[in-house]
Amino acid sequence: MEERRYYQKEIETMPVEELKKLQSEKLVKQVRHVYDNVPYYRALMEEKGVTPDDIRGIEDLHKLPFLTKADLRDAYPYGLLAKPLSECVRIQSTSGTTGRRVVAFYTQHDVDLWEDCCARAIVAAGGTNEDVCQVAYGYGLFTGGPGLNGGSHRVGCLTLPMSSGNTERQIQFMTDLSATILCCTPSYAAYIGETLKEKGMGPDDIPLKAGIFGAEPWTEEMRHNIEETLGIKAYDIYGLTETSGPGVSFECAEQTGMHINEDHFLAEIIDPDTGEVLPEGSKGELVFTALDKEAFPLLRYRTRDICVLTRKPCSCGRTHIKMSKPMGRSDDMMIIRGVNVFPSQIETVLLNEGYQPNYQIVVDRENNTDTFDVLVEMNPDQVIDTVRGVAALEKSLANAMKTMLGINPSVHLVAPKSITRSEGKAVRVIDKRKLV
Ligand code: ADP
Ligand code: ZN
Repeated sequence: MEERRYYQKEIETMPVEELKKLQSEKLVKQVRHVYDNVPYYRALMEEKGVTPDDIRGIEDLHKLPFLTKADLRDAYPYGLLAKPLSECVRIQSTSGTTGRRVVAFYTQHDVDLWEDCCARAIVAAGGTNEDVCQVAYGYGLFTGGPGLNGGSHRVGCLTLPMSSGNTERQIQFMTDLSATILCCTPSYAAYIGETLKEKGMGPDDIPLKAGIFGAEPWTEEMRHNIEETLGIKAYDIYGLTETSGPGVSFECAEQTGMHINEDHFLAEIIDPDTGEVLPEGSKGELVFTALDKEAFPLLRYRTRDICVLTRKPCSCGRTHIKMSKPMGRSDDMMIIRGVNVFPSQIETVLLNEGYQPNYQIVVDRENNTDTFDVLVEMNPDQVIDTVRGVAALEKSLANAMKTMLGINPSVHLVAPKSITRSEGKAVRVIDKRKLV
C-alpha cells in the first residue's frame, strides 16, 4: 500500500474528541483576545448580552454574534484589527468578485499558520521536495499566489512563481523546467489546456502530475475535463481572504470533499435566512471562526458560500471535517423569473452536452420580464454550415438547460474563442438588471 503522507500528521489525524478539546481551548482564548482588542466586535457582543465568561467551549459558539461582509465594509480598514500595526507584517485583499474589497492583516504567526495550511494541501495532492510547483495564481494583494507560494516553500518543492497570465510562457517553463504540480484557478487551468491543444500538444508532452485548483466554483465535469486535457489528478482547494486565503480546506486523494483545517478554523452551517445552526449533513451557509489568528481574527464570519459538512471517516486517515464543493455563493445565485439559478448548473449542462465551459450568462429586464441569454462558444472542431443547423443545436442546448433549471434560456452559439478568457477568476454573469 502507498504510504500515507501528511504535512502535520499529529494534527491532521488527531482523534475527533481531542480535536474538539483543542478547539474549545483555543476558542475561549480567542474570544477573550477579540473582546479585549476589537471594540467593534465587543459592541456586537454587548448588544447580544454575551461576555467572554459565557464562552467555555465550542458548545457555546452559537451565543456569539455573526460578522458579515457589511461589517467588514463598515469597519474598513482598521476596525477589526486585533493587534497593533507594528506587530503586523502583511496585508492582503479580496479579489472583489462581488465588488467590495476587504483588507486583511497578518502577523508573522498568521502568515505561518496560513502557509502551513497550504503546505498540507500540497502534500495531500502528492507534493514532496522532489516536485516543481508552478504557482500560476495571481501574486500581489490576491491571496492565491502568496498562499500557495508559501506552502510550496514549506513542503520544499522547487517553487516556480509564475503568477497568472502569459500562457505561452507558462507552457514553456512548465516543459523546460519540468513542473509537476500546477496551482491556479480552474478556469485558468482549462485555458492552459486549451492553449496546449491549439499548439498540437497533449498530456504526454507535459510533465505535470497534479493540479491544485480553487478560488472559484467549478463542477465535477470541469474537473474531468481538466484532468483529461492536462493528464493530471486535479485537487480542489478553498479559502477566502477574510479567514486568511486558500488552504482553509483542501482535497485529499479520496476527493469526496475538502478537509477543513479545523485546528485553525471552526466551521458551522447555518440557515442563511434565520441564522439557525443546522445539524451536520444539512445544506446551508458556511460560517467560520478563526481559532488562533492574531491580527484579523474573525468570529462567526458568514461566508455566503453554500455547502454541506460531513464527518464520515476518510480513507486518507485525516480526521478533519469535510465540506462539499461550494455550489456557489448565496450572492452568486441569480433569481431569474423567480427561479434560483447558479452558474454551476449551466456549466454542468454544457460539459454534459460536449461543450467547453466557455460561456457567459446575460440577464436583463424588458417590459418587466427577465431576459435570460446564455452565450456558448462552439467547439473549434464543430462544423455547422447552415443557419438551421446552428438553430437546432441552440434549441437542443436550451432544452437541456430547461430540464436542469426549470426555465428556458435563449442560447446563442458564438465563434470559438470569442468569449474573453480569464487568467484569474472567470466572469460568468452579466446582470444588467442591477444597473437600472
Ligand atoms: P472575493 O470575495 O473578492 O472573490 P476572495 O478572493 O477572498 O474574495 O474569494 C473567496 C471566495 O472565493 C470564497 O468565499 C468562495 O466563494 C470562492 N471560492 C474560493 N475557493 C473556492 C473553491 N474551491 N470552490 C468554490 N468557490 C471557491
Ligand atoms: Zn481525506
